[in-house]
Amino acid sequence: MENTFIRKLFLDILSTADKILIIIIAVLIILLSLHIIFPESNDSLHAICEIDGKIEKRIHLQKNKKIDLKNGIILETQNNQIRVFKSDCPHKICVKHGWIKHANDMIICVPNKTVIYLDKDSEIDYISH
Ligand SMILES: [Zn+2]
Repeated sequence: MENTFIRKLFLDILSTADKILIIIIAVLIILLSLHIIFPESNDSLHAICEIDGKIEKRIHLQKNKKIDLKNGIILETQNNQIRVFKSDCPHKICVKHGWIKHANDMIICVPNKTVIYLDKDSEIDYISH
């Protein structure tokens, strides 16, 4: 009885716009609490690989794998880090650079015209995978 009364009250008093507003607020609260529970970490980073000034690849760092860039460079990802595993450039400066793991960290290989840097996932990017 009481349940029906409350439901009737809810339906009568609240307009459709109010209900939509309540849903939007609820969704916002859920999203905000998710953000608090899972704060930004290395998990939300991805590596961007530019060859000759063009973005060739976006690499997610969650999986441990090797990526052949087909220009003499092989990258390796592991534990949310990335490094140049192998390179055919003469001085191997990029290989010696080692692992990078923070946003805006960068590895540059001048002979291969390759730049690898870490960037934060955008919201849209994050939802899409
Ligand atoms: Zn190099």
